[in-house]
Amino acid sequence: MESKKKFQTNAIHGTYKSEQHFGSLTPPLFQTSTFVFDTAEQGEHRFLGEEPGMIYSRLGNPTVQLLEERLALLESGEKALAFGSGMAAVSAVLLHYVKEGSHIICSRGIYGCTYGLLKWLQEKFRITFDLSDLDSEEEIRSKITNKTVCIFLETPINPTMKIISLKTVTKVAKEQGIPVVVDNTFCSPYLQRPLEQGCDIVLHSATKYIGGHGDVVGGIIVGSEEVMNNIASHVRKDIGGIMSPFDAWLLIRGLKTLHVRMDRHCENAEKIASRLQKNEKVDKVIYPSLFEGKNAEIVKEQMTKSGGVISFTVRGGKEQAQKLLNHVSLLKVAVSLGDTETLIQHPASMTHAIVPKEEREKMGIVDNLIRLSVGLEDWEDIWGDLENALNQI
Ligand SMILES: *Cc1c(COP(=O)(O)O)cnc(C)c1O
Repeated sequence: MESKKKFQTNAIHGTYKSEQHFGSLTPPLFQTSTFVFDTAEQGEHRFLGEEPGMIYSRLGNPTVQLLEERLALLESGEKALAFGSGMAAVSAVLLHYVKEGSHIICSRGIYGCTYGLLKWLQEKFRITFDLSDLDSEEEIRSKITNKTVCIFLETPINPTMKIISLKTVTKVAKEQGIPVVVDNTFCSPYLQRPLEQGCDIVLHSATKYIGGHGDVVGGIIVGSEEVMNNIASHVRKDIGGIMSPFDAWLLIRGLKTLHVRMDRHCENAEKIASRLQKNEKVDKVIYPSLFEGKNAEIVKEQMTKSGGVISFTVRGGKEQAQKLLNHVSLLKVAVSLGDTETLIQHPASMTHAIVPKEEREKMGIVDNLIRLSVGLEDWEDIWGDLENALNQI
């Protein structure tokens, strides 16, 4: 029944039954670490998995579970798992797939800490990884080895906003039986649903658009029941990077306005992107709705709108980029994205400082690149502040 409702309705009502909670309109917050068993036998049966029910909040909590069920519904997946951060979600997925000697194919351009994690796994467990543009079937095939355990990608890529065709990647991956994992943080399930395109796992830093108010750090993964159960009973249970009930409660609230916020993020970003394009201090603006040719087709095929993040290069180098940041006032100089506030950052020295300069430049993270997460303020106020700062450099 529920899955037949539209996205917006599911984001507000999906998988919650108020009649089971004293009629509480808002889902209750179960701020508890453990759960009481009626009898010794009940405890035994729950531990054996023979009887459903809660045991201990690291293994499951009703508030966290509601968020998971709702996100599984919104991403068109069978099951979701929540984590204490986006990186806890990324590491859970990678640790699920890898063993010593495994190989991973990764989009060239990836969240800085995901890159850092891969490097660390490489040193510690001798896994290997290849960064790839993933832009043609031949290119993807050429990277696959008999040790390849997954293809891990972002689209649009943070922070360069490059686009990867999910159709092309899943076509090759399916032929070879390799799972595809998509970090969907930049789109949220409202703009892009990779599982519907044949990908195997979708993950989010819920810190960003899902929370939307800059007050939670969290992560989520969605996929098949089989893989999620495996991750829940091994990586999540034993490594323990769980989400707190209160954070899940805030994220359930965030989801209720996701579609409204995303529409406005996109609307504001469209306007700012077109202004930036006309500004003489700006060299290049990268924003999906401005793409042409093949990339425009990919955007049309897999995204409903262009999102709230714009990247652009200023004329000059690092000095001019930092000068711009030092001259904004309404805009806040901060990493993170997807908040109500417009945030501006310098990837080469901030989010992607961990990536060696040579690799960074191959990813397109040049020293004069700026990432702008367009917020929900009045767009003319956002532009006014940005234009003023551009005039100063
Ligand atoms: C922020 C972010 C992450 C990491 O999420 P945290 O919640 O900060 O741990 C991963 N991927 C992308 C694309 C992100 O923007």
